[in-house]
Amino acid sequence: MKAWAPDQVRGDEEGTLNFTFTGVKKACFAIRAGADHLRCMEKTLPPAGKLWLVGAGPGDPDLLTLRAARLLESADLVVHDGLVGEGVLALIPPHVERISVAKQRSRHTMKQELINELLVRETLAGKQVVRLKGGDPFIFGRGGEELDAAREAGVACEVVPGITAAAGCAAQAGLPLTHREDASAVSFVAGQCKDLTEQDWSGLAGHGRTLVIYMGLATASAIADKLIADGVSPGLPVAVIERGTTADARVLRSLLTDLGDLVAREKVKSPALIIVGKVAARADALDCLGAPGVAAQIRDFT
Ligand code: SAH
Repeated sequence: MKAWAPDQVRGDEEGTLNFTFTGVKKACFAIRAGADHLRCMEKTLPPAGKLWLVGAGPGDPDLLTLRAARLLESADLVVHDGLVGEGVLALIPPHVERISVAKQRSRHTMKQELINELLVRETLAGKQVVRLKGGDPFIFGRGGEELDAAREAGVACEVVPGITAAAGCAAQAGLPLTHREDASAVSFVAGQCKDLTEQDWSGLAGHGRTLVIYMGLATASAIADKLIADGVSPGLPVAVIERGTTADARVLRSLLTDLGDLVAREKVKSPALIIVGKVAARADALDCLGAPGVAAQIRDFT
């Protein structure tokens, strides 16, 4: 109480008392008045929505970040991709509204522009909107486009990173993407990408490098041919990881020259990742070349 006592009390001729406050006390009164004003405004303004671009990791729900798990609990609406696995979706409480905007390579159930509009509209309506995406939102996840849309609309938006497929799948396969003996550079490349038909593959694979190809199943054979034509050794080890980090994950290992055949022969299905480089030899994997001696060739590649 003493702290709020006036610094000076003076009476005037009419018997009125005048209180004078100085310094910190004066500032405290101003802050209090400001806070009261804000409280009044809160009552009249609509609730502020927020958009969260959240990475769900590569499949295993245990690989979600703590922040992602907390946001799924507190969201009003979760808008998710087809890549987000059942285990992660099961963590969304039943009262939280859910919309699937699952896409497939050749078929978009919802165009990106419409997804952007949906996210902006629902957030402006005051909801806590979680846009849940496989892996990391900013690695081949169109998170950048959604962030642009939020910025343009003046919508508050925060990005929550996730474990991208390359990191998650390689870890599960015991395949280090870098290794002091094998690779000191890693490239993430889309095998299939909007406006990227003319991807320049030269220099992406070879000595001292690891190349990780996302969405590359349909183009695996053509990519291998292109790399070999650019001078990459046909005997370079490759690994293909299907449904990485999930209970039914499959890790296959072969040579670059066999990549296209391997994908066809083993009927590899999406989602799958292709890893090209000497580090692929280190994977805990099935060696899928029928020919005898190939496993040794993978290991002995120099
Ligand atoms: N944002 C995601 C990538 C989306 S692109 C991320 O950061 O991981 C989709 C591609 O990711 C798939 O075609 C596949 O190449 C790869 N992918 C995603 N999850 C995968 C998984 N569990 N196993 C193997 N590849 C996966």
